[in-house]
Amino acid sequence: MVDAMGHGPTQFQKPWPPDATPGILTESGRVFHRGVDCPGYRQGVENSRRLGRRIAPVEQVTSVEARRRGKGVCNKCWA
Ligand SMILES: [Zn+2]
Repeated sequence: MVDAMGHGPTQFQKPWPPDATPGILTESGRVFHRGVDCPGYRQGVENSRRLGRRIAPVEQVTSVEARRRGKGVCNKCWA
């Protein structure tokens, strides 16, 4: 479980960008990316394709929206 500070017991949580920062997420993805050019995001798409899984559509959201939906922060995009 994640506490009020956003720190889970098992994973290090990156600091979030400011609330209004635009980015992307997918329904099945676990993290909030800056955009579809992210190598982490592209790797996920590639894995899904290779495994024959459905490619989830990209949603344009802000940082605060991603956080509210329980996503994490991509450590490649927001490092
Ligand atoms: Zn990313």
